Amino acid sequence: MQELINAQFNLVGLIGNPIKHSLSPLLHNYLFNMLNIKAVYLAFPVENHFLERAVQGLVALNAKGFNVTIPYKESIIPFLNKLDDLAKDVGAVNTVVIDQGTSIGYNTDVSGFLKSLKKNGFDPKDKVTAVIGTGGAARAAIIGLLHAGSSQVHIIGRNIDKAQQIFDIYANSHANKLKVIEIDKTASVFEQCALIVNATPIGMYGYLEKSMPLSEEYIPNQCLIYDMVYNPLETVLLKKAKSKGCQVINGLDMLIYQGADAFKLWTGIEPPIDLIYDFLKKHVTI
Ligand code: NAP
Repeated sequence: MQELINAQFNLVGLIGNPIKHSLSPLLHNYLFNMLNIKAVYLAFPVENHFLERAVQGLVALNAKGFNVTIPYKESIIPFLNKLDDLAKDVGAVNTVVIDQGTSIGYNTDVSGFLKSLKKNGFDPKDKVTAVIGTGGAARAAIIGLLHAGSSQVHIIGRNIDKAQQIFDIYANSHANKLKVIEIDKTASVFEQCALIVNATPIGMYGYLEKSMPLSEEYIPNQCLIYDMVYNPLETVLLKKAKSKGCQVINGLDMLIYQGADAFKLWTGIEPPIDLIYDFLKKHVTI
């Protein structure tokens, strides 16, 4: 039987707005329970003007840490005491560890993305790649690919200014490996790519779910197509790519590994990936 919460339980949280849709409380409470860890995970919807006080409050309450989601992954940074190198490089935080009154920001979207590529047998080293999108998930993929040795990462966005902003942020360390491409000038770029990542919500349930972030004729035959969307597990993009003979990856593996990495940061315990996979498959599939 599940142990009732008592005074020995630690607090882990999620801050963002809105957060009602988040699977993280279900997932982490399930893992705490299965692995007999005395902790509870709660979701806190936080208004923008309370963000700093919410962080200070969680530190003051001696919480173990928390996840950060939309829209605070970037704006939370000034309110944290330290940043892990990868989070610093991305300029975004999705996991915070609180250690003896010090808050430390991490980005497990990057590690989750890279682990999902490894699990599927893809090594970005010396490969030409493309990332469609210019939001937080795109930044995690771009930095991940650069860290993993991709020879060229094309940043593809409908808003060229946003793509250029990402280029400018990473230009100091990686300028020669980055290229900004407008979304309607991509045909010749995709032909050179070993990996194309969709980091937009296009294809997700409730958001252009019958659409694709690139035209079918631009999907190269010999390419890995990665869709960060996990709801549905097979988007129209992945269906079409498969029918062209491409290898495909959906967003579930990244979701699993970023959650597992956050869990390990708070507890020091590596949760069994199979346990997370079975749990999420039940809750994510539509
Ligand atoms: P975000 O910060 O809101 O960024 C979304 C990006 O998609 C922006 O660049 C946006 O362009 C672009 N976009 C939206 N609609 C578009 C359209 N119709 N045509 C072209 N571009 C469009 O969101 P995010 O956090 O990066 O997340 C992006 C997707 O990745 C979501 O579906 C999210 O669920 C998924 N994700 C999955 C995982 C995972 O673990 N599998 C992790 C993180 C995110 P503008 O800036 O011009 O609006």
